[in-house]
Amino acid sequence: MPTKTTKRLLASATLLASLLAPCLNAQANDEPDFEVIMLGVGSPPPFMHRFGPATLIKAGGKYLLVDAGRGVTQRLWQLKIPLGRVDGLFVTHLHSDHVVGIPDLLLTGWLSSPFGGRKGNFNVWGPKGTKSMMHHIRLAYQGDVDIRVKDQGFSEENVTPNTVEIQPGLIYDQDGIQVTAIEVNHGELIKPAFGYRVDYDGRSVVISGDTKYHPPLAEAAKGTDLFIHAVGAAKPELLESRLSWKTILNHHTEPEDVGRIFEQAQPKMAALYHFVTLTNGQIKPPTLNDISARLKTTYSGPVTIGADLTRFVIGKDKVTVIPPE
Ligand SMILES: [Zn+2]
Ligand SMILES: [Zn+2]
Repeated sequence: MPTKTTKRLLASATLLASLLAPCLNAQANDEPDFEVIMLGVGSPPPFMHRFGPATLIKAGGKYLLVDAGRGVTQRLWQLKIPLGRVDGLFVTHLHSDHVVGIPDLLLTGWLSSPFGGRKGNFNVWGPKGTKSMMHHIRLAYQGDVDIRVKDQGFSEENVTPNTVEIQPGLIYDQDGIQVTAIEVNHGELIKPAFGYRVDYDGRSVVISGDTKYHPPLAEAAKGTDLFIHAVGAAKPELLESRLSWKTILNHHTEPEDVGRIFEQAQPKMAALYHFVTLTNGQIKPPTLNDISARLKTTYSGPVTIGADLTRFVIGKDKVTVIPPE
């Protein structure tokens, strides 16, 4: 038989629970259903402040990754995202800065620790040559795989790549998420190279990958919510110093041309990543302010200068930018 005090306590507990319930529900509902996180906005230089190119797209409960540059695993786990949680990797092209993080993601993601935990194949989409690359990456670590199968009883399936070589067009259509590969122009010898568009619930993000000025990309990104574009720049005196600097820069889009692409596409939010800012040590690289000023000569819309861990919440009617802490 409950005493008066117990009854009163029970009544207050029930009241408290009913008061808290909407808050708890609100918290669950506040989790964005479409979010893009720059894990790395760098290029080949091994900087601490800019890891290699990798962009995480969280849509409808799926975790998709575009490129896996240097440090992708550290950035994922910095966000407390287990590496095995990544549902699919979309490779833009085979330049090493975009793929050098794959072995770490593949092999550390296979471990049973909280930071790993992959169940099933490692799913990869990419241009011609991706199958061979994935096959050889996996083969290079055969010794490790054999040890862990015997020693720890791991299932080899969880470290086996499942690779699809793609053509331009719709390449992924699952759980309301569509991924479209857009052919871009990264130069004659780097073909094909792709950008990607991810559509979810009437909203979208477009990621350029590496490309020269390529107006068809603007066409494919027309009216998108978030348009992330790579950029390359060098001081004129550097370009005059040696021809090979020009060769590198010619594979990329300079700030004024990125501005032209944004102006044509008119995204709700534009963003820069993959900063190819050339320097020989003596002649300094252009600063982000230089790049931003040059971009603004041709583009007047909203733009975010990306950094590692810049986050974009793609809402129904606006894109919210959350700078890194
Ligand atoms: Zn690159
Ligand atoms: Zn490249």
